[in-house]
Amino acid sequence: MLAENKSSQDTPKHARLSNEKTHQCDALVITCNDFRFTTATQEFLNNRLGLEGKYDYLSIPGSIRNLMDSKTRYLVLDKFDVSVRLHHVNRIIIFAHQDCTDYGGSSAYKESTDEFKAISKDLKKARSLVGKNFRHLKVYLYYGSISYNNQKRIFNFTQPEHIKTPL
Ligand SMILES: [Zn+2]
Repeated sequence: MLAENKSSQDTPKHARLSNEKTHQCDALVITCNDFRFTTATQEFLNNRLGLEGKYDYLSIPGSIRNLMDSKTRYLVLDKFDVSVRLHHVNRIIIFAHQDCTDYGGSSAYKESTDEFKAISKDLKKARSLVGKNFRHLKVYLYYGSISYNNQKRIFNFTQPEHIKTPL
């Protein structure tokens, strides 16, 4: 009886929806949940990288900080695995950002270049960890920062030069 119900629900419409899942997801995006960066990050993905509607968006406090911590590492990698296995993503795009609460904020660093260096180092470690688990995928790294023009926020996403992967 259950099987019958299941097959009656399996209309071509559902099949198509399910099909989209395996063919149209290009990237898995990992980012911090910091609200200040959400819109800018999505605009960057949609407009600059041309990935609108083609990515899984995994937003967690501290982003890669969860990979650095051995207590949360495997839980997070396990979540990545869902996108990789079920949505067949081609690449993983990792964002970290300036003034991240999980890193103690910008005030924890003497200079903004120190903050950039420390977080870039973790980005590099994250790529290595993710790369070991998903060898067939390319991993791209971005560091988000904010500058101000009067009261207006200007967002900037850079690929730290020494750890750049061409898109
Ligand atoms: Zn953050």
